[in-house]
Amino acid sequence: MAKYCPSCGTQNDDQARFCINCGTGIERNPTNPITQAPVSTSSMGAASHAPPMYADNASMVRTQPIQDPLMASMQKSVGLAVVLSFLIPGLGQIYAGKTGRGLAFLVGFFIGLLFFLPGVIIWIFGMIDANNIAKRYNEFVLTYGRPPQSYEY
Ligand SMILES: [Zn+2]
Repeated sequence: MAKYCPSCGTQNDDQARFCINCGTGIERNPTNPITQAPVSTSSMGAASHAPPMYADNASMVRTQPIQDPLMASMQKSVGLAVVLSFLIPGLGQIYAGKTGRGLAFLVGFFIGLLFFLPGVIIWIFGMIDANNIAKRYNEFVLTYGRPPQSYEY
């Protein structure tokens, strides 16, 4: 049985320890380097199979923000809620389903306005609150798949 050089492939004598062509050391069992090579390439292949797993995760992450049209239609516009509370304090809250809270902001605004600065503060806080209320409304819709009652968020 002849030995083949692992480096250049030259056929060498069965007893040869070094390749007659290039001088590379020849293993006693010439099949070793050959069987080792597929093992290392297959492990590399397994490593290169890792990206598809990431791709799966990425596609899950990617599909999550894509909203069901029905879910989207049930949600309130956070921007509109803020704009409405900018125009009339409490209106954004009423739009986002919290009528009592909105009316409280409206009344509080007019009372505060008698002292001017408290009215301005309530007006500004009303816009921030409308932003938060609309977001909580939408979170409820995304969680439960239906619009919330006014006491539920
Ligand atoms: Zn050789």
